[in-house]
Amino acid sequence: MSGRILLVEDEPGLLMTLTDRLVSEGFTVETATDGEAGLSRALAETFDLIILDVGLPRKNGFDVCRDLRQRSVAVPVIMLTARGQVVDKVVGLKIGADDYVTKPFEMMELLARIEALLRRVPPAQPGAAGVVASSADVYQFGVIRADFRRAEVTREGAPLELSAREFKLLRYLIEHRGATISRDELLNEVWGYNAMPSTRTVDVHIAWLRQKLEPNPHYPQFILTIHGLGYKFVG
Ligand code: CA
Repeated sequence: MSGRILLVEDEPGLLMTLTDRLVSEGFTVETATDGEAGLSRALAETFDLIILDVGLPRKNGFDVCRDLRQRSVAVPVIMLTARGQVVDKVVGLKIGADDYVTKPFEMMELLARIEALLRRVPPAQPGAAGVVASSADVYQFGVIRADFRRAEVTREGAPLELSAREFKLLRYLIEHRGATISRDELLNEVWGYNAMPSTRTVDVHIAWLRQKLEPNPHYPQFILTIHGLGYKFVG
């Protein structure tokens, strides 16, 4: 595996263990030990993925993640939550995190989630080497314009804040427009593994996409519910 990872973790032991293991897997690892420093690095540099502890000095991981998304940084984020920490996953995902791992975790579990996110996410850097522009890179529906190459979605020209997961979900729906797609298929294709088996997760993300994309989210024009079967994108 390869890629550049930003690890934001304030526990020295865990920071060292994780860094060593990720480096031995082939990743380039940069670190920060508080939320402000992590946010600064994430904004200033390009990473393929961020591993973000929730309990951090100076700025907690949720606030860091929310700030990143508000500034349209779409890099995948895996959050590390403490055992016993009551985390509302829906609230957490709403601020734009892509996944969670609860401490203590098995390294293999974290690696599997990293791999799944890296495999699924399109390159975020415009003009990256080897990326060929084509008309399929941009899709327009209504006042929404989705630029897959730049990982950018705009509404009447104004940037929309989509998490990496929402972006992938939208991309999958558009690529399969006109077809009815089951929740299980979306879980398999967009989430990519069975760690989050609830199809409720799909429904929640669909609801967020509708809030951001639909003229009237209560009467969707683009992302339709096909009762008993799943969803269909038309547009
Ligand atoms: Ca911590």
